[in-house]
Amino acid sequence: MVKMFLESLKNLTSKPETKGYPYTPSPEPKGYKGTILYDEDLCIFCDKCEEVCPPGAILFEIVDVENNKREYSYNPYLCIYCHACVDACPKADEGCLVQSETRLPPLGRDSKVPKDKRLGYFVNRIEEAKDFDKKWDEFEERARESREKLAEHKKRMKLKKQQEAKAKKEAEAKAKQEAEAKAKQEAEANPQ
Ligand code: SF4
Ligand code: SF4
Repeated sequence: MVKMFLESLKNLTSKPETKGYPYTPSPEPKGYKGTILYDEDLCIFCDKCEEVCPPGAILFEIVDVENNKREYSYNPYLCIYCHACVDACPKADEGCLVQSETRLPPLGRDSKVPKDKRLGYFVNRIEEAKDFDKKWDEFEERARESREKLAEHKKRMKLKKQQEAKAKKEAEAKAKQEAEAKAKQEAEANPQ
């Protein structure tokens, strides 16, 4: 009885063993697969990260079709933290794509959208947390359209090249024909 009383007294006066979540959130364990961070200066725009991402949380928008200029965007709230993009990135060892050991706080209606250059263009352009999903839907559509424009541009360029090659070939054939006709005329005018 005394032992039990002392134990209760000890528990009443000692710090709680549990964490006071959500006021004191527990830190992620070492090696935690968290938010993906990106370094544009190291990127070679090979699109591999976008291709392997299961939920489509990484998207490149082609903002300049003529020069094939791309902008990286990432949706941390669509990401399932699977690490596939980092595994696929040929420049990951240099730090182009890194999986951090922390995650972003949940995005509530009143919370601020986290700003960080390494999260890509999309996140940094969103002002209101409540707009996040709607804007991502719009962005997906824009990114898809930009792909189509790039494909059309490539098709046009290919056709242009083919037409130029054909015109060059025809001009060469014509020049050859004219040279042969001229040589024939000269031979007929000056028989040996
Ligand atoms: S960790 Fe997985 S889900 Fe997240 S961006 Fe990379 S590939 Fe996509
Ligand atoms: S896989 Fe790496 S290098 Fe390739 S586009 Fe993605 S971030 Fe850039």
